[in-house]
Amino acid sequence: MADIDSSHLLPPFLRSRARTRIVCTIGPATGTLPRIKRLIRVGMSVGRLNLSHGSSDDHHGYVKILRQAAEEMGVAVGILADLPGPKYRVGEMEQPEITLSTGQHFTLQREPCAGTSERANVWPLGLHSDIKKGSLVLIDEGAIELRVENIDEEEIHCRVTMGGVMKPNKAVTAPGNTTTVDYFTPETEEALAFVEASDIDFVGLSYVRDGGDVERVRARLAKVGKNPQLVAKIEIQQAVDNLAEILIQSDAVMVARGDLGVELPFERVPSVQKRIIRMANEIGKPVITATQMMESMIEAPTPTRAEVTDVYNAVRDGTDAIMLSAETSVGKFPFRAVQAMTRIAKQAERYIDHEQLANRRRKAASAGVLPVDDAIADAAAVVASSLNAKAIIAYTESGSTAGRVAAYRPVTPLFALTPDIGAGAKLALRWGVIPIVVENYMNIQDMFTAGSQFALDTKIAKLGDAIVAVVGLPIGVPGTTNLLRVITLPEPVNHNK
Ligand code: PEP
Repeated sequence: MADIDSSHLLPPFLRSRARTRIVCTIGPATGTLPRIKRLIRVGMSVGRLNLSHGSSDDHHGYVKILRQAAEEMGVAVGILADLPGPKYRVGEMEQPEITLSTGQHFTLQREPCAGTSERANVWPLGLHSDIKKGSLVLIDEGAIELRVENIDEEEIHCRVTMGGVMKPNKAVTAPGNTTTVDYFTPETEEALAFVEASDIDFVGLSYVRDGGDVERVRARLAKVGKNPQLVAKIEIQQAVDNLAEILIQSDAVMVARGDLGVELPFERVPSVQKRIIRMANEIGKPVITATQMMESMIEAPTPTRAEVTDVYNAVRDGTDAIMLSAETSVGKFPFRAVQAMTRIAKQAERYIDHEQLANRRRKAASAGVLPVDDAIADAAAVVASSLNAKAIIAYTESGSTAGRVAAYRPVTPLFALTPDIGAGAKLALRWGVIPIVVENYMNIQDMFTAGSQFALDTKIAKLGDAIVAVVGLPIGVPGTTNLLRVITLPEPVNHNK
């Protein structure tokens, strides 16, 4: 029979995690092996690299220590790398900071130049055809506001409607306008080269416009044999309009509230956030709620009450994951920020309406008749709850079985037993899944026996308790979830091998 060393399988820090996953952006404040380990201990499931900042060497270093920390701690940790996407930027400047005054003229030009208080280059080419006279243009997420007065072949002539300080390479956005620029901008190409040369579980697609952008990135990575999960960042109006097709094409989505609140009037962000969470729940794909969740903890040891309520509400609404950006990359209190999120998420999880979330998913998954794998996943959650089972054990090779069960938001603790640490890492965004790396079972009875022993050894359950096992048969064929078994502990050892 398969032997499971339970002390390594379920360390105390995994037991005390919130069921909501926590994504931490890695940066100078946390980018060392001991700090990454500490982040994992306090609740990080996914380490995020923002490829728009920092050097490729830094990012390679972070990947290395994230993998090392996960291996040494015996846990699956996901790595998410965000591509910059099709973003316009101002070019180089004569000075590191240039002040623009309200009311003055300012020109954005196609030709590269060293920017001054009168003009700056905007790159890559394309903004000229995306906007028109009267359009609003923002530099650096609204630090400076321009109104377009005239456009010719070479130049966009603007009036500064809100002055401020302009710095080199800052983003240029035209809220509400469709960007025609190719998704694969030079900086996105550079980031893709990093992803291709690295070991990444999730790729974040900034400024996704439609399902086609997601398909193109997937095809591009597949060409070099890479198959990471693609997380579509919803941060422009066009993506909100195309949300249904983006959800179909991607593996997960992110409510990227920073840019969303620049591209849309900020008062629209909460309702859009709720809609994205709901639609992701319905289609059964993970959703991350991101940006400014614990913003004040960049500087302060405790969150504001508004931040507490924000995190609480996102969890109650059904988000799979909550994300920290500057709080953990450059903040003064990265570990306290994760601990605060854990406390808030756990409190909110006491009040999650599991039944409502499951109904939502069931309704969306069945156009009349549920597919077998969804019916089994759904039934696992229902049966486990009816029997007051102590655990759902999903045996999963690709991660799909456990992910499917998670989409029904079971009340019962959900463990994904997988022989592949990579599959465990890919489950790191899934609400409520605790991935456990085990040996590769060739025999269904061994799976049941190992699950039984795991539950007893880790004291998740005691003799006489029920656990629910979910399996896909035949063993080794990913993507089939077709067997549900209730095990009353203990399951006998298989002597017929
Ligand atoms: C956001 O805009 O909210 C976001 C998560 O993206 P980035 O951190 O790349 O700005």
